[in-house]
Amino acid sequence: MSSQKVKEKSKPTNLLAGATGDWEVIVGMEVHAQVASNAKLFSGASTAFGAEPNSHVSLVDAAMPGMLPVINKECVAQAIRTGLGLKAQINLKSVFDRKNYFYPDLPQGYQISQYKQPVVGEGEVEIDVDGETMKIGIERLHLEQDAGKSLHDQHPDYSYVDLNRSGVALMEIVSKPDLRSSKQAQAYVTKLRSILRYLGTCDGDMEKGNLRADVNVSVRKPGDKLGTRCEIKNVNSIRFIGQAIEYEARRQIDIIEDGGTIDQETRLFDSAKGETRSMRSKEEAHDYRYFPDPDLLPLELTQDYVDSLKSNLPELPDEKRSRFMKTFGLSAYDADVLVAEKALADFFERACLSSRDHGVSATSLIASWVINAVLGRLNKDGITIDQSPISPKQLGDIAGLIGTGEISGKIAKDLFEIVWTEGGDPADIVEKRGMKQVTDTGAIEKAVDEIIAANPEKVEQAKAKPSMLGWFVGQVMKATGGKANPAAVNEILKTKLGI
Ligand code: MN
Repeated sequence: MSSQKVKEKSKPTNLLAGATGDWEVIVGMEVHAQVASNAKLFSGASTAFGAEPNSHVSLVDAAMPGMLPVINKECVAQAIRTGLGLKAQINLKSVFDRKNYFYPDLPQGYQISQYKQPVVGEGEVEIDVDGETMKIGIERLHLEQDAGKSLHDQHPDYSYVDLNRSGVALMEIVSKPDLRSSKQAQAYVTKLRSILRYLGTCDGDMEKGNLRADVNVSVRKPGDKLGTRCEIKNVNSIRFIGQAIEYEARRQIDIIEDGGTIDQETRLFDSAKGETRSMRSKEEAHDYRYFPDPDLLPLELTQDYVDSLKSNLPELPDEKRSRFMKTFGLSAYDADVLVAEKALADFFERACLSSRDHGVSATSLIASWVINAVLGRLNKDGITIDQSPISPKQLGDIAGLIGTGEISGKIAKDLFEIVWTEGGDPADIVEKRGMKQVTDTGAIEKAVDEIIAANPEKVEQAKAKPSMLGWFVGQVMKATGGKANPAAVNEILKTKLGI
């Protein structure tokens, strides 16, 4: 027999344990992403956030009789760019339909959406979870109008309606039910958001409601057919998406294991309680009486137009990640962290260019400084990379100073803090404050001799137990104010201690 192991078919790792055995969780997402555009989908009214209620409402948005919608070309271009970024089929002909329902914040009595013929067809998004890369299928992307907003908490007796959002363009991005855990679902939305932000087609600001997810959850025994799903509406943070799925899957498993059945329904996630609760029994598509909007012609595109948008797409996260790994020699993990936000990736690249002015290539070093020092400090100060007090050039200079051996890694941390809080040219600061690394072996030897002379017992211990060396290194660094070159310190100590 050969010693080669037969690879066993791996058991799905995302199963949830129940009283009657393991359960598989099936998740599909419908993400509503607000199109980055100055004007609304069918009117010229502004989409600016935070304005006085009802100050950005055209006659079209207020559904005044006789007003006709006119499609905003930029919103269509944004949808196509997004489709291309999702490696999706772009449909050269698509149709706008009316989705009929009544709600006080929907003055038309219908939403203009796309039903049977969306502008974008099947595509995919690649996610990485626990070191495994998966492709999540995209079913479609269509354009539709947002509704207005009902305000219920302004007055004890009345509700108010704000139509500023009425008619704002949304892209509804529908995934296939390919997700198998809350973690995968979170990774999917995180990746999708990153792609949209790279493309500049949606700012992805979940706090403003510019990206919200409807999460479809069902459970089944592995190998069984799909179970009945519940849709959790409008979940507006990555963390809540995870919590909502965990809660909902467990709720369904408990019901089935107690002999019950799942009702198809629409549910709400209560973030304060961390649970989902029933909102209404799920409506079917036919309840909406969809029909093509007679006020709008079918949307027809030329292949040339689509190609011209394609040729102007920016580099996207997956491509940037491969390039960072290949040209900068970064680990998959470092590359992942850096490309998640375009601004962070740009910061890293510019810092690398700066460090080259010092004649060193310090890409891994810079990656680690951006990920640990910069991100850590931004987090502490509660600011974003665009607001970083340290510039890519300054960080590149610090890395250059480490790379050329002018400062030690320990001193670099102090230098980083000085530049962060006070600003200034890193090389100047090092010069003026005497922070240069001591590579002069004479000075190091002197410090070593003094420490050896003052600690005879420790010297004996170190001879028997070489791991004591670390203690001596620490003492020398302390005595030299952290400026001694650690490699030189090690070398000299080993010789003098005879280990
Ligand atoms: Mn929708």
